[in-house]
Amino acid sequence: MTRSTPLRDRAQGRWASLLPMIGVDARFLTGRKNGPCPMCGGKTRFRFDDKEGRGTWICNNCGAGDGPALAMKVLGIGFRELAERLEPLIADAAVTPRRRERSHHEQRADLNRLWNEALPIRAGDPAALYLTARTGLTSFPRCLRVVEQLRYQDDAPSYHPAMIAMVSGPSGRAATLHRTYLTRDGRKADVEVPRRLMPGRIPDGAAIRLFPPAETLGIAEGIETALAAASLFAIPVWAAVSSTMLAKWHPPDGTREIVVFGDADPKFGGQAAAYTLAHRLAVNDRAVRVELPPRVGIDWDDVWNEGHVAPTGNQSVDV
Ligand SMILES: [Zn+2]
Repeated sequence: MTRSTPLRDRAQGRWASLLPMIGVDARFLTGRKNGPCPMCGGKTRFRFDDKEGRGTWICNNCGAGDGPALAMKVLGIGFRELAERLEPLIADAAVTPRRRERSHHEQRADLNRLWNEALPIRAGDPAALYLTARTGLTSFPRCLRVVEQLRYQDDAPSYHPAMIAMVSGPSGRAATLHRTYLTRDGRKADVEVPRRLMPGRIPDGAAIRLFPPAETLGIAEGIETALAAASLFAIPVWAAVSSTMLAKWHPPDGTREIVVFGDADPKFGGQAAAYTLAHRLAVNDRAVRVELPPRVGIDWDDVWNEGHVAPTGNQSVDV
């Protein structure tokens, strides 16, 4: 390549060595896991993923970009100055061997390993303490179906214990796993991203099937919200994981009535997702209704914890 080739092309594959040469600390560039962000700090919000050798990165706070964008932001310089600093270095900068994307098959093997090594939830472990406190599942050890879909992972002392949930596609086939990091005494761990979806193909319509399919079935966003709504309304409720997945959810065969338990977000994201789903089901002639918490800013596990009673008056907790 000659000097007339655009700088981005000539630098491709070399960002992991170029960036430290011009002053971006190499400790931000390991790419192995999330860490502090060189632009905004934090502890686990940044990852240098270097896709296609373009120096790409992603930060939960700053957004995402490529190698030049990272250098310009960290060093506070414009592209022209960046080009001048890089030009004498490019030819000698080492090329990072391309990291192979993990195949679908390998991802599934990883997920299976995690699931099989995770433990069944037992009374008194952090996941059971967490669920009992948040969702009213006092009869927790008897909730066999819930136990089948949720497990408990403890990598102590390396990291936080986690509740692991199985995410299944519309056919019921396992798609991926979802992790919620917890403290030993059963609270949500104080980490930047306490909930995480593992890699894997997630088909539209997927959910965490916390109960067997039923004629009247509820669907909520989070596991905690779903279980709290199940406790409050005394119907089985599944968790769609996120508002995006809630809007795309498909009820299983045999379900006659669907109750969508939305979050009451101040910016209406939860409500929008709930009504998007309800609208799609209704235009397909499905019986559906939406239940929202009584105040904006709370979700159903807040309702449970505040001791509210469901609008329909169902109070039994027999899940
Ligand atoms: Zn950042």
